[in-house]
Amino acid sequence: MKLLEGVYIYPWLNPQYNNSNSYLLTGEVVALIDPGHLNFIPELLGQMRRDGFYGKDITLLICTHLHPDHFEGVEFFKTSLLAIHREEEAALRDYYAPYLYQPSGTRVPSKEPDIYLREGKLWLGKDLWQVIHTPGHSPGSICLYNPSKKVLITGDVVFYQGVGRTDFMGDPQALAHSIRRLMGLDVEYLLPGHGQILVGKESVKRNFQLIERMVLPLLL
Ligand SMILES: [Zn+2]
Repeated sequence: MKLLEGVYIYPWLNPQYNNSNSYLLTGEVVALIDPGHLNFIPELLGQMRRDGFYGKDITLLICTHLHPDHFEGVEFFKTSLLAIHREEEAALRDYYAPYLYQPSGTRVPSKEPDIYLREGKLWLGKDLWQVIHTPGHSPGSICLYNPSKKVLITGDVVFYQGVGRTDFMGDPQALAHSIRRLMGLDVEYLLPGHGQILVGKESVKRNFQLIERMVLPLLL
């Protein structure tokens, strides 16, 4: 579903199964953020098709982190480039693979990263995004921010009325620090990895205030 020019949202709405929200950034580069679980890719493609986008259109896959519910589906997109933060690689090998993928019967994608994302500018065609390294939910979690569209994609760092868990290679203090950094941004659209999206500066601000009051004290 189109949210605004160049930004499409594919929220996961089925409460029976866990899966991540996906987002599509379109323009000269078509980037899919967090494809989710592999077995739900047909559903995602079905929704994208209604907006006129196809799997083959995706030039770039960006994963906010490599937990199975965000990353497993990259395997489907054989010809797309894959961008991740380098710090997720060791976490995937040493922790996610044996403790998250194997027990849940999911498979670590064989797809190798083509691009390592770092804190700083990321040009997607003519659109300037910022990669923000936000460890805490996982060591190499990243958020994507577009200052002109005022869009912030948060992965599992911040949700509507909540924050990501820290028991899968996370670090509560680092998470609190990362969230504080995000609070300083001018955001109209907060697009989290799970649950509902937030639209409007006021609701984004209220959400951060609630998290600051109710959640951050528990992390520090
Ligand atoms: Zn996660």
